[in-house]
Amino acid sequence: MWFAALLAGCSGSSGPTAADPVGPPAPIVAPAPPVVPEGVDVVFVVLDTLRADALTQYGAARPTSPNLSDFVRTATRFDAAYAPAPWTVPSTATILTGLHPLRHGMRHVGDVMPATIETLAERLAGAGWRTAAYSHNTNVSKKTGYDQGFQSFTSTDGDIFAYPNAGVLRKEVGAWFTQVGAARSFLYLQPMNCHGPYRVPKSRSATLLGRSPSRAFAYYQGPMRAILRKGDLSARAQVNARYTASLREQYDTAVRYATDEVGKLFADLEARGRYDNALIVLTADHGEELFDHGGFSHGYSLHDELLHVPLWVKLPGQRRASIVGDTVSLADLVPTVLDALAVPIVAPLGAPPPLDGRSLTPLLRGEPLPARPLLFDVDWKRRAVAQGVQDGAWKLIDIRQNYEGLSDVTRLYDHAADPDEQHDLSEAQPAKVAELQVLLTTLAKAATGEEKGALQNVLSEMDQAQLEALGYLE
Ligand SMILES: [Zn+2]
Repeated sequence: MWFAALLAGCSGSSGPTAADPVGPPAPIVAPAPPVVPEGVDVVFVVLDTLRADALTQYGAARPTSPNLSDFVRTATRFDAAYAPAPWTVPSTATILTGLHPLRHGMRHVGDVMPATIETLAERLAGAGWRTAAYSHNTNVSKKTGYDQGFQSFTSTDGDIFAYPNAGVLRKEVGAWFTQVGAARSFLYLQPMNCHGPYRVPKSRSATLLGRSPSRAFAYYQGPMRAILRKGDLSARAQVNARYTASLREQYDTAVRYATDEVGKLFADLEARGRYDNALIVLTADHGEELFDHGGFSHGYSLHDELLHVPLWVKLPGQRRASIVGDTVSLADLVPTVLDALAVPIVAPLGAPPPLDGRSLTPLLRGEPLPARPLLFDVDWKRRAVAQGVQDGAWKLIDIRQNYEGLSDVTRLYDHAADPDEQHDLSEAQPAKVAELQVLLTTLAKAATGEEKGALQNVLSEMDQAQLEALGYLE
């Protein structure tokens, strides 16, 4: 019934609307009074490192996600959802704030979320939700300020590759609901099994293939290590079909395990009577390169396999599936959720637009939204320092430097004809390159705004040394 009300256009929209990010600040619309029914839980499941095309629903040939089938029948799938950055720190901060990485400033390992930023958890806690997060990614921790607004924040520390299995989340979520009872909750869950080394419990390693995946590929060993850690591009010649098939088997097996656990988690919600009325977001912070462009892992490029993420949004009371083809950003999630729940976004008069994303509720209602270009950013020395822009069919990537030794290189792709971005058209289409470079500069300038000075890295040198020891700084 709640979904029906939204369909009828009674959502009390107060988001930043469809403002062009290049243009002047959006007018602040007077907030509608909250009309959220009791017991509306908000559940975010962010599957770390899950590229969209790894899921059956997004075209994967293997049955990697059959246990999402009940969920997807009651949710809206976005076929062109994009992360603003190809790795955890900036992208997760965008999911939690609705701001672009150039504005929230979380762009490097160890960056700490500025206290001046208002997170989704803070906004929902302020509107009466109980808030809890369970992060299995050591980068998304209290130490780096992602706990802002969460009354309970459970994260793992230590070796980023020794993460817990997604299965433990069911117990943690169960314990949380037992503790809070009927109170409405915002739950943020970030399991890590799709992240290297693609860990899967032994008892589940044969679920997808009928056998355990081949071990010809070993994460950050052999050619992968030589290419990424030593910059030895000649090691690409050692990457044969057996190696990439093994990589794919390991990754897909991990995806199957992770999505099986998410399916069980949603079944638990159903058993508790909390599913139907919940607002659920299922997505990923970024994808994973599986040698698509001669590399691995993530953070090393701005190609589609790292930025195109799966996204489903299930509104409270939604009981049917729909599909949206429009290009959307993870920055849109916060305004969408706040709009759907009628939680106002307040900003001082004359302030810049409070959020970079925009509410997708029109698309959820089947109504159009004007297309918007997307700005991508990565600033990870020794992996990639680059920015990119996607505008309709066109995508431009400006590489300042990267692990391949490239510097000041521009690439242009026709995303419609070449979605895998294999054919660089920058030399053939100089006018398009020039046009998109102007767009990129304009978007980056708008996103940076006046906030820049407030953003700083406050981790101590000791923390930096610890992160380096864990292999995250190199
Ligand atoms: Zn991640």
